[in-house]
Amino acid sequence: HANMDWLQSRVNISPDAQAVIDAVTDDSWTYKELYERANIIANYFVTKGVIKGDRVAILAPNHIGYLDFFFACMQIGAIFIPLNWRLGNNELTYVLQDSKPKLLGVSPDFKEKVNQTNVDAEIIEIASNDYYKHLTYERHDVFVELKEEDPLAMIYTGGTTGKPKGVVLSHRSILWNALNTIVSWDLSAKDVTLITTPMFHTGGLNVYTLPLLLAGGTVVLSPDFYPEKAVHDLIKYRCTVVLFVPTMYHMIIQTKEFQEATFPDMRVFVSGGAPCPHRIYEAFHEKGIAFKEGYGLTEAGPNNFYIAPEEAIHKIGSVGKPMMFNDIKIVKDDGTVAKANEVGELVLRGYHAFEYYWNKPEETAEVIRDGWIHTGDLVKQDHDGYVFIVGRKKDMIISGGENVYPLEIEHWLEANERINEAAVVGLPDEKWGEIVTAFVSLKADVTEEELKEYCNQKLTRYKVPKKFYILEELPKTHVGKINKALLKEKYSLDQE
Ligand code: ATP
Repeated sequence: HANMDWLQSRVNISPDAQAVIDAVTDDSWTYKELYERANIIANYFVTKGVIKGDRVAILAPNHIGYLDFFFACMQIGAIFIPLNWRLGNNELTYVLQDSKPKLLGVSPDFKEKVNQTNVDAEIIEIASNDYYKHLTYERHDVFVELKEEDPLAMIYTGGTTGKPKGVVLSHRSILWNALNTIVSWDLSAKDVTLITTPMFHTGGLNVYTLPLLLAGGTVVLSPDFYPEKAVHDLIKYRCTVVLFVPTMYHMIIQTKEFQEATFPDMRVFVSGGAPCPHRIYEAFHEKGIAFKEGYGLTEAGPNNFYIAPEEAIHKIGSVGKPMMFNDIKIVKDDGTVAKANEVGELVLRGYHAFEYYWNKPEETAEVIRDGWIHTGDLVKQDHDGYVFIVGRKKDMIISGGENVYPLEIEHWLEANERINEAAVVGLPDEKWGEIVTAFVSLKADVTEEELKEYCNQKLTRYKVPKKFYILEELPKTHVGKINKALLKEKYSLDQE
């Protein structure tokens, strides 16, 4: 009861409060207007024959249309699919064939892309914020009977570890991610966020957008990311909370705008989606600005942990403690539960968990076992209960029988001021099984010998990369993570 009272004091949706702002046009919508738009779109969907369980997709930069479609789907029981516009033709065709949407919202920039896929869906053009005014529809009673576990959205994962999988999120999982986040991250109707991370990704949609809209706050949508502009918009819209991925922070901290800004309204900057280099924490700490790291995955939330910003600098690299209503276990290879500081796989459960992978019962059974989600991520928890991400299980290197966690080496390499970014992978080797191999991009010249010497200073011998590749830039996946699978594939051939 005490918690519900507290929640009610935070969640304060007023019809006339500002819900969404478009950072390009400065158009804005109140909660009432947001509802009216969604209602029109829901009527349109029903007019077009969309029924409960049908899929409706969108391919567009961040735009109010995402929220129109999402809330319309919520009313009629349809499944909302935000599509990744960075996908190439083959992958997009695969995703459309897998999900078979009945309707597809497309912005003008991506029309050509869609034409190449021969998709069998009716197209809705999303050419402006007023696109809905051109739609003709009949009025319907659009609300359908729904159960908590009915699907509401399907988000395709980044494909960092294989073919994209459609993660089915129910009404319950989306609602509980929002509730957990409001409670654990202390969100309220006063909060304002800027969304530059793509809304086709769980980071753009579920980290702040939907939780803040449930709390009655304001969401500023930006269709693109430029570091100077992001800093400018955070100040202009008086944002209080924000998420960027490490690659974005990397760019932000180098700008003059960041160096000069004081961010008087910001409560906390959050990094997530991939390991955050420690120098980013330091850049914020030096300016006295709150910064913390979050961990998440499309299949659960994504929000799972909480750390108070003032603790984050003392526990660099920790994502904190489990959020309310997130049950976790750290399981070692032998199936036993890890003790403090022992590494094991993170498994978790809670109402924020996904239901299943679309059309992939085997993959679902592999990941959800006995009601627990097996994240495939290796973590450890210190004596105070703080969780540290050690790396992905699939990325762990076994060299000469020793387990090597690339992240530890990457952090050390990225602490070197001449190195821009680093990725460490295991390449096949007859003698060692795998050899530790480092890929780096540089800020200033450095030789392979110097890099080896630098690693020798800090790392145990078997962790020191046996080979270094200096690249112009490290390859990235569609969601901006370093593409280790590609490095592994390409440079394994090199070895032969
Ligand atoms: P796929 O599942 O298709 O391979 P993906 O892993 O990129 O793609 P996402 O759901 O976008 O799919 O990302 C979740 C993963 O991102 C987590 O399982 C974890 O490996 C990584 N991750 C997220 N936050 C962090 C963090 N703070 N530190 C380290 N890794 C993180």
